[in-house]
Amino acid sequence: MTKLDLLRSANFINGEWVPAASGASFEVTNPATGEIIGTAPNGGAADARRAIDAASAAFPAWRAKTAAERANLLRRLHDLILAHQDELALLLTREQGKPLAEAKGEVGMSAAYILWFAEEARRVYGDIIPSPWPDRRLLVTKQPVGVVGAITPWNFPSSMLARKIGPALAAGCTIVAKPAAQTPYSALAYGVLAEAAGIPKGVLNIVTGDAKQIGGELTSSSKVAKISFTGSTAVGKLLLRQGAETVKKMSMELGGNAPFLIFDDADLERAVSGAVAAKFRNAGQTCVCTNRFYVQAGIYDSFLEEFDAAVAALRVGNGSEEGTQIGPLIDSSALAKVEDLVGDAREHGGRIVRGGERHTAGENFYAPTIIAEASTRMRLAREEIFGPVAPIFRFDTEDEAIAAANNTEYGLACYFYTQDLARAFRVSEALDYGIVGVNDGLVTTEVAPFGGFKESGVGREGSRYGIEDYLEIKYVSLGGL
Ligand code: ADP
Repeated sequence: MTKLDLLRSANFINGEWVPAASGASFEVTNPATGEIIGTAPNGGAADARRAIDAASAAFPAWRAKTAAERANLLRRLHDLILAHQDELALLLTREQGKPLAEAKGEVGMSAAYILWFAEEARRVYGDIIPSPWPDRRLLVTKQPVGVVGAITPWNFPSSMLARKIGPALAAGCTIVAKPAAQTPYSALAYGVLAEAAGIPKGVLNIVTGDAKQIGGELTSSSKVAKISFTGSTAVGKLLLRQGAETVKKMSMELGGNAPFLIFDDADLERAVSGAVAAKFRNAGQTCVCTNRFYVQAGIYDSFLEEFDAAVAALRVGNGSEEGTQIGPLIDSSALAKVEDLVGDAREHGGRIVRGGERHTAGENFYAPTIIAEASTRMRLAREEIFGPVAPIFRFDTEDEAIAAANNTEYGLACYFYTQDLARAFRVSEALDYGIVGVNDGLVTTEVAPFGGFKESGVGREGSRYGIEDYLEIKYVSLGGL
C-alpha cells in the first residue's frame, strides 16, 4: 500500500482541503522542544457554517445507506488507521508530547473504536411492543440524530475523536469536528484517511481555529442536532448553556478527580504498578488519572517506599526517544498550574518525597512528584492536577476512605486495591463513580462504557451503550389492521 501524506495544514470541509475563510492560520509547536511543526487554519464562524452546511447536505444520503454499507466504510477506515499506525503515532508524539509507545497505543485504540462501532452499526435493533389493541401494532425503531458537532481535547487527540466519529458514522450521523488548537494534526489526519477509505464528501468535516466562534456556531445552529464534547467541566457547562436555546442533545466527557484507595489487605506489588499506571500515563494528563491516593495506615509506609522506588525508575524525556516513559506537559500554562498546586501543597504541610520541581529535560517538563501527608486543606484535594504529581493521603477506616473518595463534585473514574472479595463489592457499590477499577489501574477499552457521574459528564462512550447517544427513538403506531 502506498503511504498517505498525513500531515495537513488545511481544513477538511465537504471533501476538500481548504484554508480558513479569513486566510489566517496559527502555529503548532512540539511541546518537548518548542520546535514549530507547522500551521493550521485559524477558522471561525464562517468556516464552521460551511462545514455544518456540508454535513447537513451529506446527511440524507449517508443515513439512507444500509448499516452494512456504513460498516464496510468504517472497516476500511480502521484498516487504514492500522496501516499508518507508526506514522500517526509519530505525528501524535510531535504535537502532543506523549511517549511514542503510548502514542502507538492510542492510535491502536482509535482503530479499535472505529472497528467496534463498525460492528455495532449492524446491531441497532428496534422493538415490537405487545399491543393493547387488537387492530394496532406498535413499533420502535432507532434513527440517527442528524449532524453532530464534536469538540475534542489535546490529551488524546486521536482516540477521543475516534470514539465520536465511530458511533456517529455508524449510526448514520454526519459530523463536524473541532480539535484542540494544540493538537490539530491527529484530527486532520482523519480527513486524509476518510478520503482514502471512500467515505462520501461532507460526512466527516474537520475545522480548526477559534474555539469560541466554532463552538458558538455548533451550539447555536439549528442544523446541528447534537454536541459531543470532551474537555474541561467549565467549557462543558458553557456548551450546555449555549446549546439549551436549540435543545441540543448533549454528550459530555468532562473533568475528573480520581481517587485511588489502597487498603491494608491489598497486594502491594500490584497496587504499586497500578498506581504508577493510573497516575503517570500521559504525564498525568488524562481525565481518569489518579488525583488523590488514599492509603490505609497499616500499609502507608511500605506503599510509600515501594511507590517511590517505582517512580524513581521512570524515564523522563522527549517522547520520540526510545525508552521515554514521561514526556512534557502540553504547554507552559499547564506547567505553571502544576507548580502552583505543588507550592500550595508544600505551604499546607505536604512532605515532598520526590520531585517537586521542574525537570531539566526541557521547558515544559515537570519531575514525577510524590507528596506525602496530603490533606484536604490543599487545593490538589479538590482541583484536577493534570500533571505527574501524586499526593498521598492517609486513612484509618473503610467508611472514612469512601467518604473522602466521594467528597468531590466529580465522578468519572476511581480505583481501589483489596484482596477481600466482600470489600471489593461493598466499596465498588459505595463509590459514586462511572468507572471503578478494582485491582486494576488501566480501565479504558472500547468494549466498556466510559463516562462519569455528577459533574463529570452526561452520556457514555464506547461499548454497546456508546451508539445510543447518536440515535433517536421513534415509536410508530400502525392502526386499522
Ligand atoms: P483543556 O483544559 O483540556 O484545554 P478545554 O475544555 O479548554 O480543556 O478544551 C477542550 C476543547 O474545548 C478544545 O477543543 C478547546 O479548543 C475547546 N474549547 C475551549 N473553549 C471553548 C468554547 N468556549 N467553546 C467551544 N469549545 C471550546
